[in-house]
Amino acid sequence: MEQEYIDKSINDEHDFDHAVSEEVLSDIAYYRTLIVNVIMIGKPDDDWVLVDTGTHKYHKRILHACEQRYGKKPPQAIILTHGHFDHAGSAKKLAEHWDIPIYLHPYELDYVTGAKEYPPGDPTVGGGLISLLSGIFPTKIDHLKGFVQPLPSDGSLPFLSDWQYIETFGHTPGHISLFRKKDRVLIAGDALSTEKPESTLAVFFPLQHVYGPPAYFTEDWYDAEQSVKKLAKLDPNIIIAGHGIPMEGETMKGELQKLADNFTEQAIPKHRRH
Ligand SMILES: [Zn+2]
Ligand SMILES: [Zn+2]
Repeated sequence: MEQEYIDKSINDEHDFDHAVSEEVLSDIAYYRTLIVNVIMIGKPDDDWVLVDTGTHKYHKRILHACEQRYGKKPPQAIILTHGHFDHAGSAKKLAEHWDIPIYLHPYELDYVTGAKEYPPGDPTVGGGLISLLSGIFPTKIDHLKGFVQPLPSDGSLPFLSDWQYIETFGHTPGHISLFRKKDRVLIAGDALSTEKPESTLAVFFPLQHVYGPPAYFTEDWYDAEQSVKKLAKLDPNIIIAGHGIPMEGETMKGELQKLADNFTEQAIPKHRRH
């Protein structure tokens, strides 16, 4: 029954009236698609940037949520934390619609232009139905050639002068997180999660905790651990992860530090292929 619901939600392109973003701060909002968040940076009447784009069937709903907040004003760019199908899936359609560039880390470029493919999802990591299904998740997305540009190598982000990107490799070879120093907001992508990303149950009844990256797709666990340690050092006040509801406060801070200190026990699955 859960699978039926997921199929229906993914395939029903017409039901997007409820696609509305939620504000985290006056200049940051997110829209939760069925399994993954897209993030809008910018006040409603200001210039803005979209971070991540959900799966490929979500472009109309994402557009609806963006128009609810910004009207017809297009974002200046799309920035992708990485090229997985659940983050980059609607990137091409949205970039075409708005006629704007897409940026991601140079190490990630080959995976969105067809030169390389991510390894298949690893259904052996356990944790729930999403893991079992991950073996059939797409490893390729729409070609982004012609739309995509590498981020500058100095950690700066186009159009976002008070933000920087942090290299948080491991989940994928060129995964990035976005950080704003002045109020220590962290957009973590899949470097970590704030719900148990392997479990379908968590999709419907999210329990807020700081977890490791989605295990079924994580390629390099050593790098993934270094990335979480790096993020913990930033001491973020707010975390907006790719999967899960945004978190803030002392509980989040304590859990992030614990995850960084005990990454092997907490995040790395006992059984895995990668
Ligand atoms: Zn991912
Ligand atoms: Zn993801």
